[in-house]
Amino acid sequence: MNPAVGAGADDAGKDVLGAAGEGVAGAVGDDDGAEQDVSCSICLEAMMEPLRLGCSHAFCRACLIQARRSAPDGGRCGICRAAITIDPEKDAPDAALEAQVAAALSPKALQKRRREAAAAMKKLLSTRVNSTT
Ligand SMILES: [Zn+2]
Ligand SMILES: [Zn+2]
Repeated sequence: MNPAVGAGADDAGKDVLGAAGEGVAGAVGDDDGAEQDVSCSICLEAMMEPLRLGCSHAFCRACLIQARRSAPDGGRCGICRAAITIDPEKDAPDAALEAQVAAALSPKALQKRRREAAAAMKKLLSTRVNSTT
């Protein structure tokens, strides 16, 4: 027997704002013009062991090796179609670019990409086309 029904419905007008508005993941980057795109145009991921071609475009080492193998004429730049004149299996990565990639990724993401790239390289090198059995 409780006659006190209907009470308590009074604070419906409470302010619900405040929790929202926390900008979404600040990963958009600051566009100060100096920023270079560190993603590879072949795999669309951050470049690992980036090698710079004569045309000044750069790609992952693994991507270049793959591109060369799949092209009968030795491969071409995926952006401007210039012939690939370096040896992606032997040339050293572009240190400056590598540093940029490292700076652009979180340590965790970088580690993950490095592992992926290492696995891809291992696979590539174990399937050398010219190795006779
Ligand atoms: Zn790539
Ligand atoms: Zn190019």
